[in-house]
Amino acid sequence: MNIHEYQAKQLFLNYGIPIPDGKLAVNAENVTHIAQALGGDSWVVKAQIHAGGRGKAGGVKLAKTLAEVVSVTNDMLGITLATHQTDAAGLPVNSVLIEQTYPIERELYLSLLIDRSTQRMSFIASATGGMDIEAVAEHSPEKIISVSLHPAAGLQDYQCRKLAYALALSGGQIKTLANIMRGMVRLFLDKDASQIEINPLIVTGSGELLALDAKINFDDNALSAHPDIAALKDPTQEDDRENQAQQFGSVYITLEGNIGCMVNGAGLAMATMDIIKLKGGQPANFLDVGGGTDPEKVAKAFKLILSDSHVKAILINIFGGIVKCDTIAEGILAAVKETAINLPIVVRLEGTNAQLGRDLLNNSGLNLTAANDLDHAAEQIVMLAGAQ
Ligand code: ADP
Ligand code: MG
Repeated sequence: MNIHEYQAKQLFLNYGIPIPDGKLAVNAENVTHIAQALGGDSWVVKAQIHAGGRGKAGGVKLAKTLAEVVSVTNDMLGITLATHQTDAAGLPVNSVLIEQTYPIERELYLSLLIDRSTQRMSFIASATGGMDIEAVAEHSPEKIISVSLHPAAGLQDYQCRKLAYALALSGGQIKTLANIMRGMVRLFLDKDASQIEINPLIVTGSGELLALDAKINFDDNALSAHPDIAALKDPTQEDDRENQAQQFGSVYITLEGNIGCMVNGAGLAMATMDIIKLKGGQPANFLDVGGGTDPEKVAKAFKLILSDSHVKAILINIFGGIVKCDTIAEGILAAVKETAINLPIVVRLEGTNAQLGRDLLNNSGLNLTAANDLDHAAEQIVMLAGAQ
C-alpha cells in the first residue's frame, strides 16, 4: 500500500527524521493563513497523489506571494495529474501540501528497501539525487551506492559513515545522516514497510539535512497488524476494481489485454497469464479469487471482469482442492446466468470431481467450453478473443 507524502512525513517526524515545515490544505480558504503561519517569503505547493515525478509534471509549484499560494492551490486542487509514474489518466489531486521554501545546496538520494538478490534490507544512496534519479541510475550506475544490513547485526555505525562519506557530508551532517538512517530502519521494521524513499534529501544553504520528499510503501500482507497504517489508505488514489476485489477477499490487478482471467491461487494466476502470453494473447487482469471459492464470490468476480470493456473472452482456471470441481461448476453456471454474459468463456477445472464438473459445464447449453487441460484452454481463449 502507498500513502501520501504528507502522511509519510508525519511518520518521519515520529522517527526523528527531519522534515520541512508544512501543512495540508484541502481547499484554498485557509491557505493564506497557513502560509503566513509557516513564515518565510515564498512557499512550495505540492499536489498529494500516490506517485512521484510531480515536479516535472507541474505538481510541485513555487509561490512567491500569498496571492500566488491561493491561485496555485486553486489551480491544483481538483485536477487529475499524470506523471511518468502514473498511467495516462493520472490521479486526482484532492489535497496539497504547503511548505516553506528551503534554499537547496545539494539534492541527495536515500532509500531503504528489501534487496531480493541479497535477501537483505539495503540502503541505496546517491550524491546526485533529485528529479533525474532515474537517468542517473540508467546512465551512470556507478553514482549509486548501497549498503546491505545483516539480519542479526542490523545497521552498523561504519555503514552510516560509509554512506555519509560517499554523499560528501561532513561534520555534524555525518551524525544527522546516521540518525536519519536509524530512524528509517526502525520505521521500516516497526510498520512492515517494503520501501522508504527520500528523494531529495537536501543539504540546505546552512548545511542542514532535510527530507524534502517522502515516499513509503507498505507490505499489504502485514496491514492487518498495523491498523494505524491501514487507516492511511486513500481509495481515490487506487484502481476502483482493485478496491472492489479487496472487499470480497480477492486480489485483482488491471492489465492492458482483452482476456479476462479468473483463477484461484496467486501462483496459478501468474502461470495462467504466462501461458496466455505464450499462446500470443494478452491478459486483461490478474485475479486471484482465493482458495475457498464459493458461487457468490464467482459471481462478484465475473461482474468485476465484465466491468472492463476491453474484455473479449474469459478464461477460468480453477483447481478444486479445498472446494470440489462440481461445486465450482455449479457456481460458475449460476454466475453466468445471473450476469447474462454473452462473451465466450473457457473453463479449465482440475482436482477433486473434475470430470463431474466438466460434464455439468458441457451439458449446460450455455456459451462456455470446458477444456481438458491448460494448454488447450489457453489456445482456445486466445483464438476466441482474437475472433471477437
Ligand atoms: P516529485 O519527486 O514528485 O517530483 P518532490 O517533492 O521531490 O516531488 O519535489 C520536486 C522538486 O521540487 C525537488 O527535487 C525540489 O527541488 C523541489 N522542492 C520540493 N519541495 C521543496 C521545498 N519545500 N523547498 C524548495 N524546493 C522544493
Ligand atoms: Mg521526489
